[in-house]
Amino acid sequence: MESNGKTYRLDEILGKPIVISSDKKTRIYGLNVKGREVAISAYSESESSKGYFHRVEIEYLPASMYLINGSCTCESFQYYGMPCKHMLKVRNVYIKNRDKINKY
Ligand SMILES: [Zn+2]
Repeated sequence: MESNGKTYRLDEILGKPIVISSDKKTRIYGLNVKGREVAISAYSESESSKGYFHRVEIEYLPASMYLINGSCTCESFQYYGMPCKHMLKVRNVYIKNRDKINKY
């Protein structure tokens, strides 16, 4: 898995996902609401290495759509420090499944 950042196989990920995206590439495992912010921990599949997932954390303000903070183990985030496609995917999966997730 060189030059791809740190990745995890599904059998290395502990716990049960709260939500799995319809394409199965993004899996939300943890959710923590702090006032108006939502902190989400998730894994999102590497596009270059099928079956290997990056660990993604985001803090997000649903009212504004903004990511406040976040991190991802992919090489792009490690290198540029800017929101990567995995962080945006996690946010989008959260938005799409918000009603279902909020019942959790
Ligand atoms: Zn990433």
